[in-house]
Amino acid sequence: MPVMVASENGRRGIEAAMTFLREGGSALDAVELACRIVEDDPDDHSVGYGGLPNVLGEVELDASIMDGATLRAGAVAAVQGYGRAITLARKVMEETPHVLVVARGAERLAAELGESPQDQRTEEALQRWRERFGERGLTPGVTENLHSVARILTQPLNLQDKIYKAARVDTLGTVNFIALDGQGNLASAVSTSGLGWKYPGRVGDSPLIGAGNYCDNRYGAAACTGMGELAIRAATARSLVLYLKCGLSLVEAGRETLRDLLALDAAEGQYMNIVTLTPAGEHAGFSTVPGKQYLFQCAEMDEPQLADRLMLE
Ligand code: ASP
Repeated sequence: MPVMVASENGRRGIEAAMTFLREGGSALDAVELACRIVEDDPDDHSVGYGGLPNVLGEVELDASIMDGATLRAGAVAAVQGYGRAITLARKVMEETPHVLVVARGAERLAAELGESPQDQRTEEALQRWRERFGERGLTPGVTENLHSVARILTQPLNLQDKIYKAARVDTLGTVNFIALDGQGNLASAVSTSGLGWKYPGRVGDSPLIGAGNYCDNRYGAAACTGMGELAIRAATARSLVLYLKCGLSLVEAGRETLRDLLALDAAEGQYMNIVTLTPAGEHAGFSTVPGKQYLFQCAEMDEPQLADRLMLE
């Protein structure tokens, strides 16, 4: 019965979590475990330790987790100094009456829970930051440069375009996992360092329940990767699950969600991907652009497989 789906960069996480699910583990523990593996990997530049910094050279992490059995959810955003954002998100869900705790509050919560702060920047990520911004006279974390940063980010469209085109090539990325366990429970988790070179404090869709993550045992779950502003504006993850609730098939629900996304005036290079899994174990991936894939693994499979994400016909 167990099934998992993930974004393309989730291979190691899905493998470990599937072993755990086969042994009777819960979907909620499985998605947290899977996320942590990617968060700890310094070679993944879009999640956790080693994630690409913001425009000031600081790594700010976002994550969310949702339990399809209870509809409880937890999330953190713009957290600095703690790499396992998904575990902090789960703590928000289980140990506070809140859903979303951000920045200094989330860092305080981590410290109160006994975590030690640690710089999440790898030399490689900093080097990429220096190559991009060092020549503009910026120094990591130096706030008097914020004025120049603001100018860079508010340049007319052609420079914005450059930033987003670069984003398409190498500064987007997030990991997400959805699991269905042997008890028939669904859970979903999303973790990211967000858009590389983002404005400080910018929060994408990943920690926003309903935008980048939604999970309901009764109908299904959905999680997003891509230009988060689009999924926020279209309430993408919740929309897909709501279309399932309204009786659409999985493919129809995904395509309806894509229609909502394509109605937005997305700039060239801005795209959105969705993975989805139902309580019956049916899965699919969707994208607003061609050539995107996702990973899935059912209990009887030796390893995860890639499948194409569907587009609007
Ligand atoms: N959705 C993430 C964000 O906007 C980035 C990504 O998935 O590539 O923060």
